[in-house]
Amino acid sequence: MAGRIDVFWHEGMLKHDTGTGAFDTGIDPGFLDVLEKHPENADRVRNMLSILRRAPISAYVSFHSGRPALISELLTFHSQEYINELVEADRKGGKVVCPGTFLNPGSWEAALLAAGTALSAMKHILDGNGKVSYALVRPPGHHAQPTQADGYCFLNNAGVAVQLALSSGCQKAVVIDIDVHYGNGTAEGFYGSSKVLTISLHMNHGSWGPSHPQNGTVDELGEGEGFGYNLNIPLPNGTGDRGYEYAMTELVVPAVERFGPDMIVLVIGQDSSAFDPNGRQCLTMEGYRKISRIIHGLAKKHSGGRVLIVQEGGYQVTYSAYCLHATLEGFLDLPKALLDDPIAYYLEDEAFTVKVVESIKQYHQEKIPFLK
Ligand SMILES: [Zn+2]
Repeated sequence: MAGRIDVFWHEGMLKHDTGTGAFDTGIDPGFLDVLEKHPENADRVRNMLSILRRAPISAYVSFHSGRPALISELLTFHSQEYINELVEADRKGGKVVCPGTFLNPGSWEAALLAAGTALSAMKHILDGNGKVSYALVRPPGHHAQPTQADGYCFLNNAGVAVQLALSSGCQKAVVIDIDVHYGNGTAEGFYGSSKVLTISLHMNHGSWGPSHPQNGTVDELGEGEGFGYNLNIPLPNGTGDRGYEYAMTELVVPAVERFGPDMIVLVIGQDSSAFDPNGRQCLTMEGYRKISRIIHGLAKKHSGGRVLIVQEGGYQVTYSAYCLHATLEGFLDLPKALLDDPIAYYLEDEAFTVKVVESIKQYHQEKIPFLK
């Protein structure tokens, strides 16, 4: 029997207007006749919403309304000082919080809705009303650290949802982040915790400035009690469907099996696709579908089938929506794909990725107590 996916959404998240400029700078140096919208714009999410409403997956989707988060809920992940800074910036009419990250009028309301909608989606699962919930949210959250914004993110939507799970009786949660960028904010928030295993598969982009001091390298393993509970899987540029599948089966599956979570959070970004302006990886719809099938398999074995899916990046306005469709299909146990890929054409040579994955596996087995 095919499953159902509960989608949580709120129109107010469209009010976060990131403006136009030369790509994500917000600046117009005057050289171009056609300025594009900031990549993290409302259109990308409008298409994700419409594909879920009108494409074949619509038959398996139920829509629910999200809600704004309370400040007290944000404080389960973020510091009071940081939240005060954002509230103050909003009161004064907005500011550029860090490069590419614009808090404009309407942005704070949208950020509160994004965090609250992720909380609603998690609560739906915790209350036993569904197994697989998807929080369709923006602004994204996985770069937002306890004390600072980064990379288009203000509030860590997945992070507050994980805290809700833990305070509601879950013992161990795993966060698997397949956005093309390092989920540094989520990692930072749980860096000292052995109750939350954070795993991030990303391109090897390194630190990108003061707002993102983490490197995303394999040696960032967590600290104190949390040592060994942050697994970074930096994949070579150009990694595609087979390379990702290899990394999932060789690194992610064994770690999750050993850890034994009772809640799984899948953090998704379609910026790992072959057509994204912000990423250099080559996933197609088939790759996304495979990854989520693997995660659904883990969920059925460990978390009673419970998975919260949280939306992050994904900036190509057509393909991001199609890859979202494929990702959610992976949770439905259907015999074949519901929707064909209209544009995938890249060839893949996964030989280098396989070598990198093998060396990461060896490193994990040497350094990480629970994987020895
Ligand atoms: Zn990203």
